[in-house]
Amino acid sequence: MGNPLRDRRPLAELAVQGQVIEITEKIGDFERLAGIVESDLAALDPDKLPRDWRDSAVTGRLVFGFMDAQQRVAVLEGEVAATVDAVCQRCLEPFRLVLHSELRLLPATSGDSALAGDAFDVWELDDDTVCPADIVEESLIMAMPLAAMHDSGEACGKFDTEASDASPTTRPFATLKSQLDENG
Ligand SMILES: [Zn+2]
Repeated sequence: MGNPLRDRRPLAELAVQGQVIEITEKIGDFERLAGIVESDLAALDPDKLPRDWRDSAVTGRLVFGFMDAQQRVAVLEGEVAATVDAVCQRCLEPFRLVLHSELRLLPATSGDSALAGDAFDVWELDDDTVCPADIVEESLIMAMPLAAMHDSGEACGKFDTEASDASPTTRPFATLKSQLDENG
């Protein structure tokens, strides 16, 4: 049977079978992605490092098929999502960063990239085989912002009450920042 997510197979075969892959993985299952998250978290004091960051879920589904009724042009559609631990570049606190990517991929090797239009992204393949796990990993890496930050200024810099079972930490700059915010 093998592992549909991990096995490298011809794209044409995946498309003919209409292969659907449900993704229920963890960040730690993707070496490059985990490496990026890990180097980002390395900026944190060890006592702030989220435990179990490798266990964050990676979910989604991939659907292989054809763009056209004549089954000439194989395509991949789907979506992938993950919530990873990251360091806010504004307040330098850890937070949960949501990554999400919608996939509508048309292989460049099909020679029909003109067909792609706005509906599909052209997909550069080294040859006519694909490893679905690589696509999942690549699209999550692409979904990462250049500078990860808290979504809202309110959460940014404030102590996360959900995590406050740890011993209180003195954070003079956060206090100063909230005073500045109140003043103007
Ligand atoms: Zn922040």
